Parts: sequence; structure tokens; C-alpha cells
Amino acid sequence: MQNLYAPWRYAYLAAGRRVKGCIFCRACSSRDDSGHLVVHRGRLNFILLNRYPYNNGHLMIVPNAHLADLSRGTPAQLREMMSLAARCEVILKRVYRMDGLNLGMNLGASAGAGILEHFHLHLVPRWRGDTNFMTVVGRTRMTPESLDVTYGKLEPQFRSRRPRRSRG
Ligand SMILES: [Zn+2]
Repeated sequence: MQNLYAPWRYAYLAAGRRVKGCIFCRACSSRDDSGHLVVHRGRLNFILLNRYPYNNGHLMIVPNAHLADLSRGTPAQLREMMSLAARCEVILKRVYRMDGLNLGMNLGASAGAGILEHFHLHLVPRWRGDTNFMTVVGRTRMTPESLDVTYGKLEPQFRSRRPRRSRG
């Protein structure tokens, strides 16, 4: 059902869809890591749990800078994104004993991007037989573990060092 009269929408539209409304920018600039499910901050990217995971341990690596296009990422940012992905691979293997890992980006609405304005890399752990009946037929995802539990398992794994964040 659509609201035809929604004055709060006007305030949102008048703000010109600024970076302020971007959930990744909010998570990036916040100090409340657990509130935003941020498990790690690199120098140019940060890592957070997906609030609507496809599987347990579903992570996203996000640049600090608000960029829609992958091609606008700097070489340093993209390099760090990939090295963080490699670190996530090690941690997810250790914690979840996954058999496989899907890494992917949805760029643009037709590619299925939920958040168009700020590109991000999804990491979805996979296990043999995890594409079950519910996912295929019911379009319902089975995620037995709560986000609090996932956060408690993964966040300590990244704690070896916390470099200063930067948007460069
Ligand atoms: Zn953003």
C-alpha cells in the first residue's frame, strides 16, 4: 500500500538524496560499530554484516567513499577491498567451516542492487546442500543464526589491528 500524503518524504526529497541518507555512509561515519553491524574498519573500506543475510556469515565490504560506480574506486581502495575479501575468506572458513564462498557486486538497479549509490562487495558463505527447498520454492531464506550471534563470532576475528579510517 502506498501513502499518498507523506510529508516526511518531502523532507527526504528536499535533501536531494544526499550522502546523509545512505546507510553505508551512516555506518561509515558512526562510532556505533555494533549498532551498524560493522565488524572491521580498514583504511579505505569497512566490513559489515548484511542485515538481511542470504546465509550465516553474509558480509559486505564497502568503500568509505560514497561511490556508485566501481570504476570510480581508486586503485588503493580496490586493492584493499580485495585483500579484505581474502581476509574474510580465511575468517569465514575458520568460523563457519564453509565449503565455498560467493563474492559479488550488483551494480545498477537491473543487476539487483539494493543500494544503488554506494557500491559494495557481497561475501556469501556456502555449504553443500544449502540451496534448499525453502530458498528455491518459497523464496524464503533459512537463516538459523541471529545477527547478534554472527556479530559476536566474527567481530573478534578482525580485532588484530584497527587502522585509521580515511576517504581517500
Ligand atoms: Zn554512501
